[in-house]
Amino acid sequence: MREQPISVLAQIGTTLLSSNKVLALLRQTPFHQPLSLRELREAAYLGHLPWSARLPDHVFEHSWQLLAQQAANRDRACLLINALQAMSNEFLEHRHGALYVKQQKFGAWQQSVVSRISGLPLLAAAKASVLPAIEMRTQWPWEPPQSWASKNLPVVSPYDPFVEDYLGREGLHETHMHLNGSTHAENCWLRALRTPKQETKDFSLKWNSLSASDAAAVRELARSIDPNLSPAELHRQLVAASRLRKWLVAAATGTLSAEVKLPHDLTELMDDESLQKEVPEPVPAQLQLSANSSAADELYWIQHFLRRSMNYSSVALDRMFHTYLVLQNQYYRLLVQSEEQFGFDQFQKFTYNQLREPAEEDYLPRFWAMHGKASNVSRTTYLEGRLSPKNTLRKNHKLLKAVLGGYWCYLNNQDPQGRGVNPSPGKLGELLERLEEHFRKTSPLDRSHHRLALVVHFIKKSWTPGRKAGPYRFYKQRLELELTTNVLLECLARWPRLRSWIRGIDAAANELHAPPEIFSSCYRVCQRAGLTHRTYHAGEDFAHLLSGLRTIYDALELLDLRDGDRIGHGTAMGISPKLWLERMPGQLVIKKGEWMLDLLAAWRLLRTIPSAAVAAARVADDLTKCAGEVFRREMSCTSLEAVMELRHLNIRFVQAALETDWSPGITPLSDLWQSEAQRVMDAKRSRPQHLKLLWEWLSDRDLWERSETLQSVDAAYFDEATYLHLQQALMREVAHRNVIIETLPSSNVRISQYNSFSEHHSLRWMRAPGFVQEGDPEIMVSLGSDDPGIFAGDLNGEFYQLYGALRNHGLNDRAALALLAPINERGRAYRFHDPLLG
Ligand SMILES: [Zn+2]
Repeated sequence: MREQPISVLAQIGTTLLSSNKVLALLRQTPFHQPLSLRELREAAYLGHLPWSARLPDHVFEHSWQLLAQQAANRDRACLLINALQAMSNEFLEHRHGALYVKQQKFGAWQQSVVSRISGLPLLAAAKASVLPAIEMRTQWPWEPPQSWASKNLPVVSPYDPFVEDYLGREGLHETHMHLNGSTHAENCWLRALRTPKQETKDFSLKWNSLSASDAAAVRELARSIDPNLSPAELHRQLVAASRLRKWLVAAATGTLSAEVKLPHDLTELMDDESLQKEVPEPVPAQLQLSANSSAADELYWIQHFLRRSMNYSSVALDRMFHTYLVLQNQYYRLLVQSEEQFGFDQFQKFTYNQLREPAEEDYLPRFWAMHGKASNVSRTTYLEGRLSPKNTLRKNHKLLKAVLGGYWCYLNNQDPQGRGVNPSPGKLGELLERLEEHFRKTSPLDRSHHRLALVVHFIKKSWTPGRKAGPYRFYKQRLELELTTNVLLECLARWPRLRSWIRGIDAAANELHAPPEIFSSCYRVCQRAGLTHRTYHAGEDFAHLLSGLRTIYDALELLDLRDGDRIGHGTAMGISPKLWLERMPGQLVIKKGEWMLDLLAAWRLLRTIPSAAVAAARVADDLTKCAGEVFRREMSCTSLEAVMELRHLNIRFVQAALETDWSPGITPLSDLWQSEAQRVMDAKRSRPQHLKLLWEWLSDRDLWERSETLQSVDAAYFDEATYLHLQQALMREVAHRNVIIETLPSSNVRISQYNSFSEHHSLRWMRAPGFVQEGDPEIMVSLGSDDPGIFAGDLNGEFYQLYGALRNHGLNDRAALALLAPINERGRAYRFHDPLLG
């Protein structure tokens, strides 16, 4: 088996379905006219250009001609229907009466197709091609599928009996998923069609808050999809799409009368004021837009539309259908990170735009999505959901009630739309009691519902030196973190049963913005308060490979991660240095202060490798020079090491201890914070010089300026072999500490420098032949899906992606599963869950 990339024809297909240039053409041509082939070709060519930057034009041209020829052979004016059929043939297959993605194509499906367009029309095309004539005759009543996920989950995966058998017995163990960011774009789309104003209100507010940098990021994202996109334009598009849907459903279900006058063009439908023509309401009530509308309904009418279109094609209806799909994908691209959007900065834009927020107020649908399509057993066994804690008790209360209330409804088999029949208990205390009661009665082996644990993640925010920087580095954020920690602990004190659910802490968001040490004090305080499971996002996206390694190393040491604690991602410790060097520019620009810390980490790691003495000596030279420039004094590597070792201290107390004759006894402190103050006093007593230098690093404005100076450094500062040695030294530290790495394939492939899943570093960590490097120590790894909505996937798909990568590399099913199963099972063994839940 070999992995197969997407064909050029399918690339053209996704362009026809999602490019703003195609939309412009659709807009300017009245529906009753076929699109000019010449103009469509140009729009497709321009839309396809970023993909074909390294290919001669004839590659595009020949595939285009093939598509046009196929349409002409079938005497069809609309290329789109052909493109849909060709794509569904390329990617999908029927097995035992159900639709799956071909295993060899699953990487390309995830990377190149559903990262750009909704997969629903392709599923519909596959279904339409085998639709038995009998089903066409007996249109209604139609029995929709029963479980929530089979109605609403738009995700498809491959099918392998060996994997299915394993997962059927073991289930999946999710160790890293953000609850917000996990709703699929198709579900949001149906809501947006029904109530466009409501669904885009927050997006519009965000867009117009001119001062915020995340507002600029949202505008950047929207304009990269379509230069003309704005909240007003998006609203008009949704209004038009919702009207188009009515016509199309009527056509699909054969209830459109032959004499009806179809709309003239898209602009007419976008006009909010005039409902110029009677738009037909779908006759089967099931297909009218409502709170119950589901992906299955979409699939149903689209497959019937396609079937009809194959038999009696109508230019206007085909054109309207094409327009509907392009509008949907414009919206889709605001919610799903596409293949060409690399890096965490791009990812973060999707978390800012607020388009998922209205759907994500209710947590129940997500619990059903994680449950999967079978009704009697959950595909996920253990689920860890991450949430960002709030800064007031009231907000935490509201959030936790929503999450746990959703979970209670899930345990009671409630349907998201049928709620209110048996609502969750109104008071948080009562809800917690009922949840506890439930699990006291449930067998630990019961897999009818997944088991939940919550991990709260603090947010990394940026800090810039300047007038508002405060008296020391990350001043404001450190204060906010203390507040958030106190509020969280107060919450646990107020509702002690919450401890069965809030099981761990984490810090997430852009790691280029904030380093691990600012969380140290809060991590310790949480641990003292009984939140003993810890994890931290590190080495996910980095300015330089050395910076990524340093962040992981710092997280291990400064947060004192050990014995079942975890690191999220850790890409820098796994990515092939050769691949990283090939894909990054030769020179990278980095702040002097950051580079100094990177070199310090490298020097410390190299000292653990006996054969690396020469490299260590070279780094020591560069490090003393760099530290000398930053501190404006002579600084040996060992003293810099001793100073930076103290970064984990609570800096508010460091300031108090150094600037006044403060002692912890003067200020009344809770026991939890008392020992933080004591640590500072101990350091002041035993290492006054180091503490003073640390304070200089933290608070001296001239030093800030020097450390912020940008400089260009070589990506190949070390050769490949030395980078490998550094990764291995860090892996030994991870192994020594018994820390588990949560690996998140889709997220990494989208955020890091990978082109495909077969390059993913977890294959190396699994010690797969051909990927493991000589000298790699064994480390423990678990599996997670991160933000399944933004990556248009799910944990099941993550498992199949890695399985596929191993199979495509030549391993047989047993060998592939033998490497992969331990990763899934680590998640079970090292879960953060309360033992009460089993
Ligand atoms: Zn994450």
